[in-house]
Amino acid sequence: MEGNLNVQTENIFPVIKKFLYSDHEIFLRELVSNAIDATQKLKALSSRGEFKGEMGDLTVEVKLDKKTLTISDRGIGMSADEIEKYINQIAFSGANDFLDKYKDVQENLIGHFGLGFYSAFMVADKVEIKTKSYTDAPAMHWSCDGSPSFSMKECKKEDRGTDIILHIADDCKEFLEEHRILELLKKYCSFMPVAIRFGEESDWVDSETEFNEVDDGNGGKKKEPKRVEVKKPRIINNTDPAWKKTPANLTDEDYKKFYHELYPMNFEDPLFQIHLNVDYPFNLTGILYFPKVRKTIDPNRNKIQLYCNQVFVTDSVEGIVPEYLMLLHGVLDSPDIPLNVSRSYLQSDGNVKKISNHISKKVADKLEEMFKNGREDFEKKWDDIKIFVEYGMLTEEKFCERAMKFSLFKNTEGNYFSFEDYRDKIKVLQTDKDKNLCYLYATDAEEQHAYIAKAKEKGYDVLLMDSVLTPHFVNLLEQKFEKSRFVRVDSDVVEKLIPHEDNIPEKLSKEEQEKLKPIIENEIDKKKYTVQMESLESDDQPMIITQSEFMRRYKEMSAMGGGMSFYGDLPESYNLVVNVNHPLIEQVLKEEDGDKQKQLVHQLTDLALLSNGLLKGEALTEFIKRSVAIIK
Ligand code: ADP
Repeated sequence: MEGNLNVQTENIFPVIKKFLYSDHEIFLRELVSNAIDATQKLKALSSRGEFKGEMGDLTVEVKLDKKTLTISDRGIGMSADEIEKYINQIAFSGANDFLDKYKDVQENLIGHFGLGFYSAFMVADKVEIKTKSYTDAPAMHWSCDGSPSFSMKECKKEDRGTDIILHIADDCKEFLEEHRILELLKKYCSFMPVAIRFGEESDWVDSETEFNEVDDGNGGKKKEPKRVEVKKPRIINNTDPAWKKTPANLTDEDYKKFYHELYPMNFEDPLFQIHLNVDYPFNLTGILYFPKVRKTIDPNRNKIQLYCNQVFVTDSVEGIVPEYLMLLHGVLDSPDIPLNVSRSYLQSDGNVKKISNHISKKVADKLEEMFKNGREDFEKKWDDIKIFVEYGMLTEEKFCERAMKFSLFKNTEGNYFSFEDYRDKIKVLQTDKDKNLCYLYATDAEEQHAYIAKAKEKGYDVLLMDSVLTPHFVNLLEQKFEKSRFVRVDSDVVEKLIPHEDNIPEKLSKEEQEKLKPIIENEIDKKKYTVQMESLESDDQPMIITQSEFMRRYKEMSAMGGGMSFYGDLPESYNLVVNVNHPLIEQVLKEEDGDKQKQLVHQLTDLALLSNGLLKGEALTEFIKRSVAIIK
């Protein structure tokens, strides 16, 4: 029999080719998953007693030849009627609809096109089907060279099932290369539910017949079996991946093993995992792993993989996974995610939104459970997961509410506290005269060491908040906590970090201070440093550099592009705090020799800069020279 395919366009195949250019490779996924479906259908018929014959070896086989690529299965096969119905009558809805559907390819469709069998024509200029139904219908041979006409006749075929034979086009030769096909099978078919065989692989085993003579360690010789290479069929997939199993049947080790199966190039163990298993109101299974977050995160490696009934679809999961969890690893498998639509649509799809919310809720559940039932272990993991939690709190209102209960603060001594416990800890000493609770924090324990030490001397506690999100995060906490503010330890002199009632009497009068100010200002970069007279303890430092909390935080936020870009070009600015009660400051004022006065001011400002890490390069060299000269 010969005939024309039921499509309304003259020749649809060049169109298929052109439209889906960048995704040519998905043809293999489509054909192998058809083979798997046909096999699964046979298994179902058999278990219902509707197929009574021997099932035999059901392995799907992919084979390369000089010019062809063949996908064979031992599934239900097709009768002539079925070929007519499922293959010839393509695009029931008509080619125009078909084209409409793929028009927005530019918008980067994710994965599954539902193009199915006809995607073969993206890479082949001729496709043959040899198939024998599980019923006693005669075997059929169908062939089509890419024009809308095809031929179909009875043929001889021993085995039940279907062979799809692709005559690979000249411009698609890559699909005749073993390594390329293996790569694609690994990418798309690694967890398909029926075994898939492709080529052979080597296994090195002890020979039973050949031996080597080796030293036995006692001066004599002994025989040792030779290692010999044996070829065995290469099965490329794991038909029963961990995410499909019941969580109760899996140990931590099983989860880790599966993690390394997913990401063979990643040798680090994940921190912990969340096994997802939902069937109402949508169907979703999967395992999400929390990785150890490194200083440098490469978002292109080890991405979450999205599957549809164990068929790999994509590793772009934007929209499906909440943004703050995009850097997790693992798999999601759902037939309910609409895969043949554009991203913008995906984000407005109700089901997808539900899935995203569900994932967020499960993550909160898991973290809360760890906080409640394994506090010590949770604290150990905290440094690695806090970035996810902070990001989640900043971007998802619901998650934020939940996270307030299990989030931890870490102080500069390395101790962890729940938000509530920490509040109680600092309440007495760190409430200021306006009844605000003042949280002191450092972003770098080394650089801000002097300030931290000062605060501790006063009996204050200092938090270590060293994440890239800190400026945004402290803003958020100030909104969430009542009557509270966050102050970085170096944003003011310790007496003023948390203002209390008692003021220290000033040694220098206001007039004396006015006289002193220009003397100091003459020696510094006035654009960068603002001189500020303060009445501090006489045994405090004579001069201290601070940077206002407000200025610094907004500068940091704008640098991160936090929607504050109008602050973008703020210059670096600091306060040079002068302790008017310090004897050396009094000495500056009393010094009559102009040169000596200058030198003293210079030395004092440099010391303040030095303790802040701001004295560098030439200025530092000059300072050292000057200091040596003074000691002499
Ligand atoms: P889809 O798989 O989305 O239904 P396809 O174009 O890939 O669309 O396939 C159309 C139909 O052809 C399938 O639904 C199935 O009935 C039949 N078919 C395709 N490949 C095979 C196969 N290897 N064995 C048996 N039937 C097949």
